[in-house]
Amino acid sequence: MSTRYTRRTFLKAGAAIGWGIALSPIARAVDTKTAASKRGKRVYIMTDMEGVAGILDSENWCKPEGRYYELGKEFLTAEVNAAIEGFARAGATEFLVADGHGHGGINPKLLDRRAELARNWSPPPYPFSLDNSFGYAAWVGQHAMARTEFAHLAHTGNFGVFETTINGTPVGEFGEVALCATQLGVRVIFGSGDLAFTKEAQALVPGIETVAVKRGTTPGRGDECDRDAYGKRNLAAIHCQPQRARQMIREAAERALRRAKTNASFGLLTLKPPFERATILRRQGTQPKRIGRSSHPSDGIALMNAPMKYETVKE
Ligand SMILES: [Zn+2]
Repeated sequence: MSTRYTRRTFLKAGAAIGWGIALSPIARAVDTKTAASKRGKRVYIMTDMEGVAGILDSENWCKPEGRYYELGKEFLTAEVNAAIEGFARAGATEFLVADGHGHGGINPKLLDRRAELARNWSPPPYPFSLDNSFGYAAWVGQHAMARTEFAHLAHTGNFGVFETTINGTPVGEFGEVALCATQLGVRVIFGSGDLAFTKEAQALVPGIETVAVKRGTTPGRGDECDRDAYGKRNLAAIHCQPQRARQMIREAAERALRRAKTNASFGLLTLKPPFERATILRRQGTQPKRIGRSSHPSDGIALMNAPMKYETVKE
């Protein structure tokens, strides 16, 4: 907004003294080109722990009191570094890593020195430090949404969420932030995680480059589970060896950015405003199943930040 105001002021002043018409279009063209080429070198990377190869469960690997939490953070950070290396090989130079795991999943000491790290957002949290200075957005270590079959450690936000839909389409943590990216004009080009997550990402953003570093082996959606039972449900999986996973991530990240540069047709979510969001919560202790709703006529980020009022679902 302020840039535009400045430019308008400049044009007016230029026209008044006679050289505005000759100079300003060139200035504007150079300006736009510089901004676009800068954006093309900036990649935003959202991260989570449950979709990382070698992270075997939530209890021992994803919580501060877990036996392997520090090792889990090393595994995630190494996968993020592999993605950064791949994007860099395709020409990216600036990286913002958003640590999206509830308890934190990045070890700053091990993070690639080319990256900045974002963490601890003041409310409202969405879009988690993403803005339109980035050309591209990527996901590393992402798990599938709640209710997904053959998914490892699937959930949406936490194990208590039964399902979130936007305009009737089920979305997980990936879709929620991809919606924000789309609104900001940032192209969603890469995602790594378990196989079920990669299918979810491809369904929402056709053409996205994905890498599956493990695959869940539990059949069924777990709709019968309360929050506690769902949290213990999808532990079974077959994992890639972590170093092999990183190699695949590095190669796919490079491919993603090279493809994105030559093919402008992929990378945006197809969900369109007006937006209606509904979130259903599982039974928890004596709490019955509940549903909350929010809506927004045009703004997906405001939709995600809107408070939800929950009411009991009759079963
Ligand atoms: Zn998550």
